[in-house]
Formats: sequence, structure tokens, C-alpha cells
Amino acid sequence: DDNIVLEYQITIFGRNERLMLVRNITRLYRLEQMRKDFVANVSHELRTPLTVINGYLETFADYSDQLPPRWGRATHQMQQQSRRMQNIINDLLLLSRLETTDIEGQQQYIEIDLMLDSIRQDAQLLSGDKEHRITTDLRTDARVIGSENELRSAISNLVFNAVKYTPPGSTIKMIWQELPHNKGAVLAVEDNGEGIDARHLPRLTERFYRVDKGRSAETGGTGLGLAIVKHVLLRHNAKLDIKSEVGKGTQFSCTFPDTSLAMQGESTREHSN
Ligand code: ADP
Repeated sequence: DDNIVLEYQITIFGRNERLMLVRNITRLYRLEQMRKDFVANVSHELRTPLTVINGYLETFADYSDQLPPRWGRATHQMQQQSRRMQNIINDLLLLSRLETTDIEGQQQYIEIDLMLDSIRQDAQLLSGDKEHRITTDLRTDARVIGSENELRSAISNLVFNAVKYTPPGSTIKMIWQELPHNKGAVLAVEDNGEGIDARHLPRLTERFYRVDKGRSAETGGTGLGLAIVKHVLLRHNAKLDIKSEVGKGTQFSCTFPDTSLAMQGESTREHSN
């Protein structure tokens, strides 16, 4: 049950022998479970007090014209910071849900072209007068079987990051490609921004890891976005690869297995009637 048993066939001096390794992981598993529970509990407990603080800050902000200017500015700053805290708490709660709940029951057919197009529109709004050129490119009407909410938030994270971390006017492409021989499909999110130095890449999906702390705080990031992306993909048996070249741009690609794809025409509850 809590033992991992590894069995090997080995050949010694021409004789076939069996080697068995047994490792008990109960303690490791319990510690990991405690960590997950702790993070979930802390995040949950912090939510209520923060809601109260935010409520009062909002009232202060409504009367800011009656406050001395310095207080008005302070109120604004406090509001910004407590919103950031709220975002961090929400992301931590989302991460712990991703780690602890089952995806079964949340699966549905997702029309990938519609989803990418609506993400493109949201990203264009986020870019505003920075006028990023955001495009989608897909030549099939494939559907993915998965959690719509989760995949939308993962893909949005990648595209919004590209908006946040590239200069105005940069190009951002979402490219969906099916792999030959039923090997699944790849969604690439590419930008032609400043890129990320290779030494950061292995740690990029760690919680709170950032290339440039100051810049990330400025953009309102929580440092949890890519950790969420990684977990969502993991739940969909998909995997994330990151390629980047400084001065040229960055490419995040999500590879979905064949089993998560459904072709147009396959009947679904929503579309069959
Ligand atoms: P954050 O909330 O800080 O955006 P993420 O986990 O989403 O956290 O991203 C981690 C870090 O990766 C960011 O702080 C940023 O430095 C870097 N990053 C993410 N996407 C890009 C991109 N498209 N181009 C350059 N840097 C990026």
C-alpha cells in the first residue's frame, strides 16, 4: 500500500536474477499532505480579514476628496497592495484545489477555436493602447476533452504574461497544431519580446519564482501563474515546454495527448440537440 516496490531483472555472471527494492513512503506522503493542508488553511483563513480590510479601504477611497492629499495617496497604495494580497490568496487556493481534487466530473468538450478567440479578445483589452498584435492560428476544428475553466485560465495566463512582459507593439501568436500519427496536439503561445535567460527556465514554473521581482510586482503578478499552468496541464496529461532566446522571444508549448482530443462531429450533449 504505502510501499513502493521496484522489481528488476538483472544478469550477473550470465545468471538471471531478480532484484527487489522496497521503499516506504508513508512519512513523505504525510508530510506532503500536511504541507498542502497548511497552505489551503492559511489561505482560507486570510480571506475573511482581508475582505473586511478591503471593504473599509473602499469606503475611505470613496471619501478621498475629503481626506488630506497624503492620506488619499496612502489609501490608494493600501488598496493596491491589499488587492495584490487577495490575488495571491485566490491563486494559492486555486493551486491547492488543483492539487487535491479530482478532475473527473469537470470534463467536457471544449471547442478550442472559440476558446482561443475569446482569450485573444481579452488579451487585446489587457494590452489596450500598447497595441500588441495578437493572432490565433489553427487549421482544424478539434475539440479538447477537459475542464473548460482550468484550461481557459492556464492558456490565459500564458497569453496575458506575453502581454505583460513584452514591449508595446510586440507580436503574440497562439498556434494550434495537430501532430501526425495520432500523437496528440500542441498549443504554442509565442512572443517576440525580450526573452528569458536560459538559467531561469528550469525554475520558471516554481511558485513565486520571478525573473525580475520589481517588474513582476509592477504588473500585478502573483508569481503563481506558471505554477498554475503546470498543474492544470498535468491534470490533463499534457506537458509544458518553454523555449526562449534573449532578444528574440519566448515560446510556451503545451502538448496534449491524443486521448484528450475529439474531432468535430463527435457528438456531445450540448451539440447533439
Ligand atoms: P507572475 O505573476 O510574476 O507573472 P508567472 O508565474 O506567471 O508569475 O511568471 C513567472 C515569471 O516568468 C514572470 O515574473 C516573468 O519574469 C517571467 N515570464 C513569464 N512569461 C514571460 C514572457 N512571455 N516573456 C518574458 N518573461 C516571462
